[in-house]
Amino acid sequence: MIKDGELVIPGQELGTLEEYLPGENVYEVGGRIYSKVLGRVAVKDLMISVSPLKEIPRIKEGEVVIATVTEVKENIAIVEILAIEGKAYRSIASPIYTAAIPISQIANEFIKDIRMKLRTSDIVRAKVISTQRGIFLTVKPPDMGVINAFCSICRRPLRRVSGNTLRCDHCNTNETRKISELYGRYFIGGDKYGNNPRKI
Ligand SMILES: [Zn+2]
Repeated sequence: MIKDGELVIPGQELGTLEEYLPGENVYEVGGRIYSKVLGRVAVKDLMISVSPLKEIPRIKEGEVVIATVTEVKENIAIVEILAIEGKAYRSIASPIYTAAIPISQIANEFIKDIRMKLRTSDIVRAKVISTQRGIFLTVKPPDMGVINAFCSICRRPLRRVSGNTLRCDHCNTNETRKISELYGRYFIGGDKYGNNPRKI
């Protein structure tokens, strides 16, 4: 069960309607409540909300970031960085960082259509490869890539079925992504395998 003050990522399940009333920055699908934003859980009486975390520290090469895909072009995906792994609790005033994932940094194989790998509103775990002339990221390693994704039709969170295939049980549709091996079990507050989620 999620705890008050816990750090959560967009699309992370917070509980059910039987446990809580949905408050701010959360949404409800099929009786389950999910976070809309990266932030801290706030439980007051029975109301569950998430307070968005806006400030992130300076970004360096080699760091691992959590980002949301804001735009997908033919050869590049544009993302907004939500947090730097291991530093999410730091609070240094900073602008919102926009970064880019070139198509050559998405997978090892040839990519015919970038939208088979990344789509708008996907949450990705990515490594910073350059901060010169903009922030560039890679999602090639197995533990990098999409960690949460939403159905293109109904926006419900997608369930991983196998390999790079995700499924929406509501629409009965499959979609593909460059999926991280941490898909659906990543906790920003924990280590990369989601252990010790309250330890930084
Ligand atoms: Zn759907």
